Amino acid sequence: MVARIIDGKAFAESVREKVTKHVARLKSEHNIVPGLAVVLVGEDPASHVYVRSKGKQTVEVGMKSVEHKLKLDTTESDLLDLINQLNKDETIHGILVQLPLPNHINGDQVINSIDPVKDVDGFHISNVGLLGTGQKCMVPCTPLGCLMLLRANYGSLSGLNAVVIGRSNIVGKPMAQLLIGDSCTVTITHSRTKNLPEVLRHADIIIAAVGRTRMVIGDWIKPGATVIDVGINRIDKPGGGTRLVGDVDFTTCSEVAGAITPVPGGVGPMTIACLLANTLTACCRSNDLQEPDGLTV
Ligand code: NAP
Repeated sequence: MVARIIDGKAFAESVREKVTKHVARLKSEHNIVPGLAVVLVGEDPASHVYVRSKGKQTVEVGMKSVEHKLKLDTTESDLLDLINQLNKDETIHGILVQLPLPNHINGDQVINSIDPVKDVDGFHISNVGLLGTGQKCMVPCTPLGCLMLLRANYGSLSGLNAVVIGRSNIVGKPMAQLLIGDSCTVTITHSRTKNLPEVLRHADIIIAAVGRTRMVIGDWIKPGATVIDVGINRIDKPGGGTRLVGDVDFTTCSEVAGAITPVPGGVGPMTIACLLANTLTACCRSNDLQEPDGLTV
């Protein structure tokens, strides 16, 4: 079997087109421009690249983008003051604090200071609770992107066996909640799981969110399974330089799977597209306007 490649880049483009059309309608019919504020503390080069890319795509879909780049020694109190200002700013509908934050800042405290309606990352404890109880909320971007790809691949996910590898608050846990919401039978695995290959062999759907280069190999998966690779790992290229690979060994898994996401070009582009979708959703909710179909759960 040769797996069908799930083209996350093309799907993300279709999400951005939908967002762009709806943003234009909000502007022409209601004179509203959705605004996204991204807050970055410190000089981490990878975070700066992500923030630049988010800002560029926000502007491309017609939204307002505001970036706050703060020095590494910014105090927690100054950061909380900034978030408080952004919470009150009516031109800002989404607030994202780029993680990780420096050690001297309490990340939970900062995330939980964001107005939950503007929490476009879906990490505020209120949104976590709402997702866990199946209520309307802001859904974390990466799991939302994975769910969109799976729904497009299967239509209904009802009754499928899904195994999530990884139990982080950012990916693994919310992913499992979303799959339960779509009536999958869900198993969450992690570093203490015994005999992971045996667990994976029963999976119709595998979501790998581990951070270990090419950990999942073709021998471990059920023929025809759908494999979603969330991992982003940087490895050295033989001739110098680096490149990105996932948590899944693409070569062996694509010989057994029915469908598979590549890295790069799979889940990564969906994450930013879902951030834009969440900002639009937040803007519609705060203005009591109808939300576009298919951009959230
Ligand atoms: P994380 O917080 O480090 O969590 C990793 C999870 O993997 C943990 O639950 C850990 O288990 C589990 N794990 C580690 N070794 C394992 C093993 N041998 N077998 C089974 N499980 C194991 O990472 P994360 O934030 O969820 O991110 C995971 C990956 O996704 C990273 O590569 C990250 O860069 C990537 N990512 C990509 C996107 C995107 O847009 N594509 C977005 C977010 C993250 P324990 O809990 O027992 O330690």
